[in-house]
Amino acid sequence: MHPFSFTKAANTRDALDAGQRGGRYIAGGTTLVDLMRETVERPDALVDITALPLREITVTKTGGLRLGALVSMSQAAAHPAVHPVISQALELSASAQLRNMATLGGNIMQRTRCTYFRDVTAACNKRSPGSGCAALGGYNRAHAILGGSEQCVATHPSDLAVACTALEVTVHLLGPTGSRTLPFTDFLLRPGTTPDREQALRPGELITAVEVPAYPRTLKSGYLKVRDRQSYEFALTSAAVALNVRGGVVREAKVAAGGVGTVPWKLSIVEHFLLGKQPSEQLWSDAAARAADGAQPLAHNGFKVELLKRTVERQLRGVGGAA
Ligand code: SF4
Repeated sequence: MHPFSFTKAANTRDALDAGQRGGRYIAGGTTLVDLMRETVERPDALVDITALPLREITVTKTGGLRLGALVSMSQAAAHPAVHPVISQALELSASAQLRNMATLGGNIMQRTRCTYFRDVTAACNKRSPGSGCAALGGYNRAHAILGGSEQCVATHPSDLAVACTALEVTVHLLGPTGSRTLPFTDFLLRPGTTPDREQALRPGELITAVEVPAYPRTLKSGYLKVRDRQSYEFALTSAAVALNVRGGVVREAKVAAGGVGTVPWKLSIVEHFLLGKQPSEQLWSDAAARAADGAQPLAHNGFKVELLKRTVERQLRGVGGAA
């Protein structure tokens, strides 16, 4: 392992100062320590932020839900005010031991499970910019069919991020020059020509919370994850769905897919198709038929196109029922 210094920040100011000097923030460490062991990550300095006051779950004045960045996955999943789509995404993500250690901030900062990224002998533009992409000409069954570039086609691994994308969560950030917020869909970046840059964080910036906007009590939601084995595994496809059906028609539809995009994939075309229509088996099927629009399969992952449509259809039916 590459040698590094380790400091524990006593407060937010200390953390930001250390972050500005190039320190990497660490909390649960469930991703970063693994990557350091494999020498994929080689930080010179780690800054432990577990003492910061970022462990609250609160209902906001507008009826939204604010979850501190250091809330554990277990704590969030068990909270009664947390939407089912988030709880289910968290519970399907990892074992109980990992959920107890890992934080929400760390979860959305996870790095890809692309095997070439984790193999330091392979070409990988994300790990080593300009070195090439071994996945493009290699075995790419688990890779993205949406949002890829000539530089990188790795999927984003977080289930929570798919739920956050569907629910249009806001990310709260704090940096040396103050605080700001970003829509979740602007926080995670597609690879383009800079696959090594994965989030819209500025140097030294810290995630302080994620905030779910207020939704009507009648909103129903859920998360479906399709994977090679039922024990903990990353998604081949997944669907986060939230529907508000009132007066016999769909008033709100929030839908996103995981396992298929270089970032969690917002299915706006599916959402728009559902609005104002009466729930029925036909509606779910017609809406889901649009889920893979724009997909560009690679040599080994063409099956994801049909699997994605079926995953979305099943979860629309599961959440919305049928008249
Ligand atoms: Fe690296 Fe991305 Fe290519 Fe995987 S898909 S090898 S992460 S550049």
